[in-house]
Amino acid sequence: PFDVLVIGGGPAGASAAIYAARKGIRTGIVAERFGGQVMDTLGIENFISVKYTEGPKLVASLEEHVKEYGIDIMNLQRAKRLEKKELVEVELENGAVLKSKTVILSTGARWRNLGVPGEAEFKNKGVAYCPHCDGPLFEGKHVAVVGGGNSGVEAAIDLAGIAGHVTVFEFMPEMKADAVLQDRLHSLSNVTVLTNVQVKEITGDDKVNGIAYLERDTEATKHIDLQGVFVQIGLVPNTDWLGDTVERTRFGEIVVDNRGATNVPGVFAAGDCTNSPYKQIIISMGSGANAALGAFDYLIRN
Ligand code: FAD
Repeated sequence: PFDVLVIGGGPAGASAAIYAARKGIRTGIVAERFGGQVMDTLGIENFISVKYTEGPKLVASLEEHVKEYGIDIMNLQRAKRLEKKELVEVELENGAVLKSKTVILSTGARWRNLGVPGEAEFKNKGVAYCPHCDGPLFEGKHVAVVGGGNSGVEAAIDLAGIAGHVTVFEFMPEMKADAVLQDRLHSLSNVTVLTNVQVKEITGDDKVNGIAYLERDTEATKHIDLQGVFVQIGLVPNTDWLGDTVERTRFGEIVVDNRGATNVPGVFAAGDCTNSPYKQIIISMGSGANAALGAFDYLIRN
């Protein structure tokens, strides 16, 4: 059996595997797609100590670093079931059952897509999901935030400090965000809020140039010129496969303590799949290291 089996090969999983392997214990890593969300990222400017890099380049470095150690890498394999017996068992989609004394879950998350024409086409060409990451690319420009929940309104407040103008699109007649955030949003002079509107299409030529939307009460279709669209309609953790085996929040995020431990002894979690409030590469790497040290601590005590 493994001492530490990491499920997920993004920044959290890579970091956890390296920290575990450096303790000289048997470490494996299972990844559906090594690199995770970073593979889909163009420019990265907030990975501290590296002024600028690109997703695939960072993934290549991660892989090179992981391969420095005797880590058993099982890429292109998807975990489908976890069960705690004497050891923790993880069954893969291909039928194999892996056994380990500890498991670190780092299966990440994915942004919920709007699913309208133009969204996929203009991804990284004006369509963005992370204001902390891509906000500065829209300095002085007109951007949209789609979604009026807490993350949408936080994003709009954040972007209003950088962009020239921010227009918020909310499908329902009222925004769902906390009142204090809405008050703050309404106090900003360069923000417009459109409620009861449905985004129909993100338009553009080689990059985004606007949004076509339906005013739901008048049934009129309108178009607004703008240069960027931040989609903020939710982040979905890749944790469905766990069912009830591990405690999760109502959003599906795995609940962890400050050592990365879940409610199941020997099962730890790190990165975007957990209830950690902020989801970033550097934060995932830190929490992967933290969970690996938590797992090591558990191993020497059990
Ligand atoms: P992920 O990167 O999501 O990795 C999850 C891993 O688990 C993958 O290997 C996946 O294949 C695997 N997996 C999932 N389910 C299973 C399963 N059942 N079995 C086996 N493996 C599984 N952050 C920044 O700090 N700076 C940026 O500039 C930045 N830009 C971004 C741009 C985009 C377009 C996106 C989508 C995200 C961006 N982020 C950025 C956020 C950052 O990518 C994430 O916070 C980070 O990748 C989370 O790391 P993670 O390891 O927790 O999860």
